[in-house]
Amino acid sequence: MTPVIGITGLVREVGGRSFAGVNAAYVAAVIAAGGVPLILPPSLPPTTAAPLTKMLDGVLLSGGADLDPGRYGAAPHPKLGVVEPDRDAFDLAIIGAARARGLPLLAICRGMQAVNVALGGTLWQDLPSERPGDVLHDGEWPRTQRVHPVALTPGSVVARALGTDRCAVNSVHHQGVRTLAPGLAATGHAPDGLIEAIEATDGPWLAGVQWHPETFHADPSAPDLGIFRAFVRAAGSGEDGAVDD
Ligand code: MN
Repeated sequence: MTPVIGITGLVREVGGRSFAGVNAAYVAAVIAAGGVPLILPPSLPPTTAAPLTKMLDGVLLSGGADLDPGRYGAAPHPKLGVVEPDRDAFDLAIIGAARARGLPLLAICRGMQAVNVALGGTLWQDLPSERPGDVLHDGEWPRTQRVHPVALTPGSVVARALGTDRCAVNSVHHQGVRTLAPGLAATGHAPDGLIEAIEATDGPWLAGVQWHPETFHADPSAPDLGIFRAFVRAAGSGEDGAVDD
């Protein structure tokens, strides 16, 4: 059976109308890796998350706006961006439901931050002011531009999926992991020490990356699609994080 992958979506105003969907690069990356994507709009009530996981083989948490710091007990920073309470509620609910059901989770950018918050961690709300340094994580550059390196823990889920312990990544994120949640391991770091990849220390397959591997879904020379292949493979086999491949 082809694994069915739920992709958390967003709602955006375009030309005065409201659209529910997701950046098509996530959809294309799941298809390229052999999965069937199913977009999950954030307007779904959080109570639908657990029943929905019965229809899914894996959950992909896509990128998007800042998380509400109230979700991890912090007061809003003056430079906090736009927050989307409905999306926070649904994302956190489906993370919990997917973990409880043993489904693999791939978490990208905001998705990685949401996993960290769902499991009890905290975030930097505005990296440039709270954590100034040499490495810029957001800017006006194209999404395809690889702007900083990431050093990966050899043998980690993401390193194995990419087939390398070191890669240059694109970077378009305003927030980042501050305190890592219990049950997660940091397996990738930017040169400034910021966490760029995570995995679960036990339980179902889980990988989080702070960059955007989906951008390179159509580039066969890029290692990034390997993350989607490993995820869809885990979704298709029910393998967990402890299984070597
Ligand atoms: Mn970055």
